[in-house]
Amino acid sequence: MNTKRLVILGSTGSIGRQTLDVVREQRDRFDVIGLAAGRNATLLEEQAREFKPRLIWSSREESRSALESAGARARWTPLDEQAADTDADLVVVGTVGAAGLMPTLAALRAGKAVVLANKEVLVMAGALVTATAKQGGGELLPVDSEHSAMWQCLWGEERSAISRIILTASGGAFRDYTLEQLENVTPDEALNHPTWKMGRKITVDSATLMNKGFEAIETRWLFDVPLDRIDIVMHRESIVHSLVEFVDGSVKAQLGEPDMRLPIQVALCYPERVAGPTMKPFDLVRMGELHFEAPQMRKFPALGIALKAGLQGGTYPAVLAGADEAAVGHFLAGHLRFTEIPVLLEEALTAHHSSADTDLEAILEADAWARAFADDWVKVRPADA
Ligand code: MG
Repeated sequence: MNTKRLVILGSTGSIGRQTLDVVREQRDRFDVIGLAAGRNATLLEEQAREFKPRLIWSSREESRSALESAGARARWTPLDEQAADTDADLVVVGTVGAAGLMPTLAALRAGKAVVLANKEVLVMAGALVTATAKQGGGELLPVDSEHSAMWQCLWGEERSAISRIILTASGGAFRDYTLEQLENVTPDEALNHPTWKMGRKITVDSATLMNKGFEAIETRWLFDVPLDRIDIVMHRESIVHSLVEFVDGSVKAQLGEPDMRLPIQVALCYPERVAGPTMKPFDLVRMGELHFEAPQMRKFPALGIALKAGLQGGTYPAVLAGADEAAVGHFLAGHLRFTEIPVLLEEALTAHHSSADTDLEAILEADAWARAFADDWVKVRPADA
């Protein structure tokens, strides 16, 4: 068996930590050669001591010498360089928000397989990222549970045989709240996801349903299926992770316990299937019932806003992603109400003039514009908003 050499960007985040859990269970299959993280230098140092990478980086420059010596006399190497390192076989992009874009492009240009957990990358720059993969010979391996499900349903199938993709959604923390209750929800309540343990930003995005809008756009780019052939269905148990309907009317689904280690392992081990992470046995009888319903578009306007931006294309999705990242930050800091998030996003998209170009410069400009718009909006919004 060939050992795969891994670079893990965002190693102290939720995806990074669970990726390392999978590596621990499959020690002989993987060699961690690079780790990069943001501010949690303490955890990164522990990871470096355990996995002995030769490339390391943290946004805490002051921890540099401790981190270098904790690794295998590791070399201080920023994300983009780790992503393109000649020795890397797989680059796990587990960063959050816009931070993942440049390293993903660098890895794809260098012909790497990118295990992409950072969905904003495809939302803001789907055309550019997929074109870069084609040119550079790189490959995108989905790790989001829904996209892993679609991908597994498509193994051995022709893309031209897809008639529709059905993306399932848990509904997030507030699926059973009324519109009135939503007015006063707190960040702590939004961070309490009913079925998935994830990072803070994505958990808030799940509560607004923005996450599902992002995932629809991500689906469009990963599988080259137009947005109008992607349906969204609420499924509160998070057992059916998504479905693909084919031209003959046959429908395939992928099911499993909601545990991110499974889709992570599927991507890391692809194209092999190996004995899985330890989790409770899959038991349909114990589950008893599975529920499906239409998404509540009126209660969660962010979903419709995201789908519209996806259909408009151009730099609108980059504005959507940038404004959302800023808005979620303001919400978590207590500077924005939950129900103001979609209002802010709608106004940002209305005020934006999309550039016809979707090259890197145009995307970064749209992203910066959107963040500035969100910051201003929070400062000067009408008192009754
Ligand atoms: Mg998901």
